[in-house]
Amino acid sequence: MAYEALYTRGRPKTLSHLIGQEHISNALARAVSSGRLSHAYLLVGTRGTGKTSTARLLAKAMNCDRVHEAQGSNRPLEKKEIPCNKCDACKNFDSSPDNVEFDAASNRSVEDVTRLLSTAYLAPLRSRVKTFIIDEIHMLSTEAINSILKLIEEPPPNVAFFLATTEINKVPMTIRSRCQVLNFRLIPQQTIAPYLLKLAGRLNVTLHEDAAKKIARLAEGSMRDALTYLDQCYAMANEEITLDNVNETLGLISDESLDEIISAVKAKDRVAVGRAITKALRSGLAANAINESLITRLRDIEFDMLGTDDRNFSELDKMIDGLRAASGEMYGSGIPDIILEMALMKLAAPVQSFVMPQRVATPSTPSDNLDEGWKIFYDTLSLSSKQDNTLTRIFDKATVVGFTGNEMTLGFRGGGAAGLFKSKQQLFEQAAAQTAGRAIKVSVVVDKNLPPSVLRNMPEPERTNLASAIDIVQASDATKIND
Ligand SMILES: [Zn+2]
Repeated sequence: MAYEALYTRGRPKTLSHLIGQEHISNALARAVSSGRLSHAYLLVGTRGTGKTSTARLLAKAMNCDRVHEAQGSNRPLEKKEIPCNKCDACKNFDSSPDNVEFDAASNRSVEDVTRLLSTAYLAPLRSRVKTFIIDEIHMLSTEAINSILKLIEEPPPNVAFFLATTEINKVPMTIRSRCQVLNFRLIPQQTIAPYLLKLAGRLNVTLHEDAAKKIARLAEGSMRDALTYLDQCYAMANEEITLDNVNETLGLISDESLDEIISAVKAKDRVAVGRAITKALRSGLAANAINESLITRLRDIEFDMLGTDDRNFSELDKMIDGLRAASGEMYGSGIPDIILEMALMKLAAPVQSFVMPQRVATPSTPSDNLDEGWKIFYDTLSLSSKQDNTLTRIFDKATVVGFTGNEMTLGFRGGGAAGLFKSKQQLFEQAAAQTAGRAIKVSVVVDKNLPPSVLRNMPEPERTNLASAIDIVQASDATKIND
């Protein structure tokens, strides 16, 4: 038998299965019981929250023989009876010519949509009520919207419309004001996780609780996404789904690896930071995915702290801010790995302001504002590398040894890198001017005693230790660029 996706199997069969939308299912159950259903519903909410499923349940219920009988005898219906799924009308619903479903986002032609809508004026062939379920209604052409408007203003007998949208602000007010609006909420993790556990139980799969929680968190309020993730893990695992299976299948970094990085940053241990981030990058995860996971993890830690006496949020906030800034820089950059490494190194910097080590060559100009110099340097690097990717490799070897506000002195450990830089100096200066909003003159010094750029402010012996860690990072990055 062909494998049926959980997403299909997990689809609600009655109003009682509508997880996380009880405010809607309760109201609809009362309306169905009393026969006070509207002929036009506007279902609003983010993807995967149950809009289309609800529309189908209602469309089915409008035609269900048992629902109809109960309405006739004034018997209140329970949610699990709406619809009954046993009568002929329910059994034939999926193939019924009287239920028309389409997705406005699927590029149907205007003629096509108009033709489908025009069938609303024909009596239903087999059912009590002819139903139209239209997804992503905001994507319809103005012409199609106007046809619908006309239909819901003067509805033909026995027709019902279910219009679903993820973007209510794009739906014309004329449509909104004529429909009964159902607002679907994001489904909380605390609701999704137990549902996944229950579903896994029915499939005879052992789903670990932490794995279920992780999937629920990733789903961000969408049951459909949660079921799709579970499906992927189910396909890869053997009757048992652990947190590791989830991380592996969905290409996620484990919480332990994230905590290792976070602890190293907290301890201001840059050697450990270098080691942890290198390990994470080597496992093949993309830098921006790692960054996102770090931010989410920090947020989770902060939320957990709310339940304790620990009120030291400022450190976590600073980390989240730093990583968020890095995330912005990574976007569209050719050097996301380096940006993430630098952001973490910066966060792991000792609290005191940077001091240049003594043995570094004395810059020709007074270096009263090195921090600003470094900031301009990285921003410039990120900007100019978009134009010329090879710049990354050269600038990687540079150290800002002096900055006066208008003049930047870059130090290189070797003449080769310095020479290469000089050939690109003009491009760098242009990008620097753009970044700083003023002209920046760059001069170059060569000093073989200069530490690699990131190690600029570290006392020995940490510098030597970190140098080896950084070399590994750079080596792994070089491999990627060569690929
Ligand atoms: Zn039925």
